[in-house]
Amino acid sequence: MKTKLKIALLVLFAFFAACVTTPESGKQAFIMVSPSQEVTMGKQAFEEIQQKEKESEDKRLVGITQRVGERLAVHTDMPDLEWEFKLFESDQMNAFALPGGKTAAYTGLLKVCENEAALAAVMGHEIAHVTARHGAQRMTQQMVLSTAMAAASISLANKDSRALILGALGIGATYGIQLPFSRDNEAEADQIGLIYMARAGYDPSEAVRFWSRFSEMKQGGQPPEFLSTHPADATRIANLKRYLPRAMAEYKNAKTKYGLGETF
Ligand SMILES: [Zn+2]
Repeated sequence: MKTKLKIALLVLFAFFAACVTTPESGKQAFIMVSPSQEVTMGKQAFEEIQQKEKESEDKRLVGITQRVGERLAVHTDMPDLEWEFKLFESDQMNAFALPGGKTAAYTGLLKVCENEAALAAVMGHEIAHVTARHGAQRMTQQMVLSTAMAAASISLANKDSRALILGALGIGATYGIQLPFSRDNEAEADQIGLIYMARAGYDPSEAVRFWSRFSEMKQGGQPPEFLSTHPADATRIANLKRYLPRAMAEYKNAKTKYGLGETF
């Protein structure tokens, strides 16, 4: 075979090997980070965060967070990850999920959620960032931008790639690196998250109400951290309403329905 043709085939193969289809939304994404690399980075980042944060001692709220998370996890497109759901004691209105399935919410967020369904909406959204591999997509974009960054060399221990990884995973704010997901990624996470919460048995229409409620929240004149990376503007609300019929159909088929669940 001619060398040129060989190279062309190789390039083509490399492209398709890294071109993945996002679950539920069916969108194509180009990813140069392997799932196992992603999981390793997610686990390392979670260990660091756990050293910084204090776990809530409120047994009832911890239990609710875990059951919401577990109900969502079995209905995701990655049910076999080592899912774990923690509740951290802090006023910050925030939540995150990392590749590998490590997920956490802060007690400050639960106050605004008011009920389990709203918590399921937020956690479902965060989990959707993981199953859609948005962190890896963003790392790929950064790697393409900075040619010095090879897929093999990205690790949390590497000073140069550390900020990139934490930012790409969407937890950069905790470390002073604010890097919101793109509007497309956000819309996709909303769409997928809504489906997950519906399959888990929570009324998806609460997601629309929650985002409207949340957008009115201000912390001492500042929008909450989660809101600054997740602006609940008219477009977001309109998109959620557009995704709602499909989610309602999933909700109708859910074996057990919890409605809004328990109120906090
Ligand atoms: Zn998001």
